[in-house]
Parts: sequence; C-alpha cells; structure tokens
Amino acid sequence: MDYDIAIIGLGPAGSSLARLLSSSFKVIALDKKHQSGDEGFHKPCGGLLSTDAQKAFIRQGLNLPADILTDPQIFSVRTYDLQTNLVCNYQRSYVSFDRHKFDLWLKSLIPSTVTVYHNTLCKEILRIIDGYQITYENEDKIEYKITAKYVVGADGANSVVRRMRYPNHTIRQYVAIQQWFTEKHTTPFYSCIFDNRSTNCYAWSISKDGYFIFGGAFPKKAANQHFESLKEKLKSHGFNFGDPLKTEKCLVVYPNRLGDFYTGNENIFLIGEAAGFISASSLEGISYALNSAEILSKILNSGHPKPNKSYYQRTIPLRLKLYSKIAKAKILTTPFWRKLIMKSKIQHIKTN
Ligand SMILES: Cc1cc2nc3c(=O)[nH]c(=O)nc-3n(C[C@H](O)[C@H](O)[C@H](O)COP(=O)(O)OP(=O)(O)OC[C@H]3O[C@@H](n4cnc5c(N)ncnc54)[C@H](O)[C@@H]3O)c2cc1C
Repeated sequence: MDYDIAIIGLGPAGSSLARLLSSSFKVIALDKKHQSGDEGFHKPCGGLLSTDAQKAFIRQGLNLPADILTDPQIFSVRTYDLQTNLVCNYQRSYVSFDRHKFDLWLKSLIPSTVTVYHNTLCKEILRIIDGYQITYENEDKIEYKITAKYVVGADGANSVVRRMRYPNHTIRQYVAIQQWFTEKHTTPFYSCIFDNRSTNCYAWSISKDGYFIFGGAFPKKAANQHFESLKEKLKSHGFNFGDPLKTEKCLVVYPNRLGDFYTGNENIFLIGEAAGFISASSLEGISYALNSAEILSKILNSGHPKPNKSYYQRTIPLRLKLYSKIAKAKILTTPFWRKLIMKSKIQHIKTN
C-alpha cells in the first residue's frame, strides 16, 4: 500500500481528522478546494457555529482566529411562519464566520506529515486485495492512482465514496440555494423561514459584512422556482433583496430515518455529511463533522482491531441525537405543530 489512510475531502470533517491522526500513519488527503485565496470551490453555508461545534473546539483546544469572524454577531433568530404570518424571536448563541476562510484555516492546521493534494478531484475508489485503489485528477486534469489500506469519505453531501462504494445506502438530498445581495436593511438580522408551499424543509437569511445572504433547501423538483416564489412572498414581510451579486447551489443531505446515517464498512469510514451526519431540523452539520472526525481519530490512533465496528458503536449517541433532530424537524415542518409552538410564545423575546 502507498498509504495507510486516504482522506477524501477536507471540509471540517476531513481537516479535523487529518489534524488529529497520529503521525505514525502515512496519510494522504485529497481535496477539491484550493490551498488558499478566493479561487476554486467554496462550500455554500450560513457560516454559523453552533454551541455543540464550539464545545468540539474546546475539547480539541482550538480558538477561532478573529479574521474568520464576520460582522455583526447576531444573538437571535427571527422565525417566520408564512402560512400563519406568525413571527417570533428566539435567542441563539451562534458565532458568525466566513465559511471559506474557516475551511482554509482548518486545512492550514493539518500537520506537514500528511500529504495534502489541493485542487484535486477524487474520481474512483476500487477494492483491491488488502485495501483500495483511488483515482484522482489534479488541476491539470491528469489522472493518478494511489493505494491505501483505509479510506475515509469526508467528501460531504454528494460523497463520491458513498456513491461508489455504497450505492444501496442512498440518502434524501435537497438542493440548497443561496443568493448574496448588498445589505439594505436598517438593522441586520438572522432569520429562519417556514413555508410549506415552498419547501418542507426551511429557508434562512443572514446579514454578514455588508451582505444580505438569503438561502433555502428545496426538494430537487422545481427548486429554483420555489426559491424565487419564496423571495417574492418575503418582500411583503420587509425583506429587501435587490439584484443578486452571486448565486450558490449545492446538494444538502436531509436525513429522514435512522438508516440514513451510514458509517461504512470493510476499512472504509464515512464521517461528517458523507455519513448523513447533519441536523434535519436546522441543517447544522459542522459539529457532527468535528465530532465524527474526533471519534474516528481516537479509534484509528488506538490501533483497534475492528475499527469499523468500533466506529459504528461509538457513533451511536451521535446518531440517536441526529434521529431526535429528525423528529424535531417533522414537528417544526408540520404547520399545525409549528403554529401551536409559535402561538405559545414560549422562549419568544419581544422586541421594543
Ligand atoms: C446552504 C447550507 C448552509 C449551511 N449552514 C450551516 C451553518 O450555518 N452551520 C453549520 O454548522 N452547518 C451548516 N451547514 C451544513 C454544513 O455545511 C455541513 O454539514 C458541513 O460542512 C459538513 O462538513 P463535511 O466536512 O462533512 O463536508 P463538507 O464541508 O461538504 O466538505 C467536504 C469537502 O470535500 C471536498 N470534496 C467533495 N467531493 C470531493 C471529491 N470528489 N474529491 C476531492 N474533494 C472533494 C470539498 O472540497 C468539500 O469542501 C449548511 C449546509 C448548507 C448546504
């Protein structure tokens, strides 16, 4: 084998694993993002760090550098139910940051003992005796092949590792669309929007560094149409869009049942969103990416004789928590229950 471990994808999950693995392993990591700068692939994201992700940073002894943070930091989410016209404000302790800078910062923490290929696309993973053969394409579109004993799929919602190795373990995917506008609202705000006529997931907006970002997750069929019609509806609620400066789109995993979370087998491990680890109720996924990477690093570093079994077992609490988020999402996206919760005004903070 050329390598002990091949990590495919360096988002929060892959970068954390690459950082936490013992230097005694020979590790290669392939990532389609560039090493630095604004070129290349950017992950569309709300850029909000949840308290669970903050806890993972505490455990891993990491502090966020100030140049990754965005302005302003907002402490509440204004929640809209367009079917009942109810609006509530709920306190949130998110840290708002620039997602692309965050990803590049996490990549920069990977030790030099790991071989990292940036701007590189993994195309194929084939089973061979004692391991896997991985085909990747570099920035000049030249193909290379390497072999590794363990493969870690940390390549997000549209994971090539999951698609190629586990075609029977498909997971529900929605299309996430985000548009950036010049901020024109007098008070920047963060919002969460429910409208079952547009999507049975949800939409959001956030003000960052002079931009107003509006996004939503929609079923694949007619996603663009629903996105535009939702924008139109929100204008009457005081949303000021103007001309979009940029539009971003990607697939987002929207888990629906316990079986959607899949951790891999036969020396392949799925971590982060590739494993389906994302909250169905908020689409918060960074904490699960960090936590699953941390769990896997401990198992591999300990030289566990059955690492797949151990990873499956040690992610049970994580999967149960994610399952509770599926239940929560079902309640929040059901108009009757949502109306009941919002009408109760429990935890709502009245603004002056
Ligand atoms: C629109 C949107 C908004 C979101 N907002 C938030 C939020 O505010 N807070 C939050 O906590 N979560 C948010 N999430 C979820 C969060 O972004 C993901 O759950 C999280 O990024 C998952 O991390 P990951 O490392 O598993 O995957 P990713 O972050 O998707 O990283 C995977 C990486 O793999 C690389 N890659 C993919 N395919 C290949 C390949 N074939 N070859 C080589 N490299 C490859 C890419 O460079 C990519 O960066 C949001 C998701 C979406 C879609």
